[in-house]
Amino acid sequence: MSKLVDNFGRQISYVRLAVTDRCNLRCQYCMPAHGIDIVPRKELLTYKEMYRIVRVLTELGVNKVRLTGGEPFVRKDFMSFLEMLSFNDLLDDINITTNGALISNHIETLEKIKKVKNINLSIDSLQREKFAKITRRDVFPEVYNTFELLEKSNLNLKLNVVVQSGFNTDEINGFVALTKDKDIAVRFIEEMPFNGNGQRETNENWSFNRILEEIKSQYTITKISSEKSSTSRNYSIEGHLGTVGIIPAFTRTICNDCNRIRITSTGTFKNCLFDDGVFNLRNFIRNGASNEDLKELFLSLVKEKPKDGFEAEANRKGNVTESMSTIGG
Ligand code: SAM
Ligand code: SF4
Repeated sequence: MSKLVDNFGRQISYVRLAVTDRCNLRCQYCMPAHGIDIVPRKELLTYKEMYRIVRVLTELGVNKVRLTGGEPFVRKDFMSFLEMLSFNDLLDDINITTNGALISNHIETLEKIKKVKNINLSIDSLQREKFAKITRRDVFPEVYNTFELLEKSNLNLKLNVVVQSGFNTDEINGFVALTKDKDIAVRFIEEMPFNGNGQRETNENWSFNRILEEIKSQYTITKISSEKSSTSRNYSIEGHLGTVGIIPAFTRTICNDCNRIRITSTGTFKNCLFDDGVFNLRNFIRNGASNEDLKELFLSLVKEKPKDGFEAEANRKGNVTESMSTIGG
């Protein structure tokens, strides 16, 4: 079987798929207050198209998918799509990134879908008012309820915390404290300029090292080994059930071992978060491409995967301004 291997010998085994560009929140770092210009529904990939794309990718060695968006749970029948996807026998893991505001009713069902193992819940503040300021929606109680339900469930839970200068840096160690009694991974993400052209004024630069220093100011941490392709550098703290991690999303020191590709909700294939999209799969499929055509295409597209996010950014035609909701974070 042919495998997806790029020109640097990296084998691609993970696809991040944005199931929609729509979202029920308006996070300041992701989009402007009025939201982004969403595309007409017919321009979004259908579930059947997504299933087929993932199936072909798994026949080329991909064994994990992360479903993201936009907010995946705002798309109608998302739960049915999860079940459909779980029938793909070549897929080992279906992971989901969510803001958690719409999912408390679905957790029991999610636990029953065997391939759904890891949920990343985005939560940037533990204070209701601050949370509402960041997300521009007053949904903290519902998100926190989801957090508690997920923690009790059999799903692995990671919290995604985007570190935002002037908003939530004073809460970093409050989040770390959660790992004392909870078996969760708290991961701090460097903020990136993918905000759909929203205005962001940042006075301070909270990059990986600064976040690490902040944690070290209160805790003694020990580096733990993670999967080679992990997006975060991870640490344990003596006496804590959970772990903490930092994702150098902007300083990009993790690209060497990248095993990922992305597909946006409109079917744009991306080799890197920082490239501006290399191929439109939706049009290719709608123009009658066969599964063999798709395979050939994927095998050649990954050969264009840039060495790292800096090279990808340098090759772009425009600046980095699109929303993470469009790209699929
Ligand atoms: N709506 C879902 C959510 O918020 O979890 C999934 C999509 S969201 C785009 C995926 C992840 O990207 C979230 O954890 C979010 O916090 C993160 N994200 C969005 N914009 C970002 C930015 N400008 N910099 C860093 N992370 C960002
Ligand atoms: Fe929506 Fe997620 Fe973007 Fe927030 S980060 S606006 S929840 S897509």
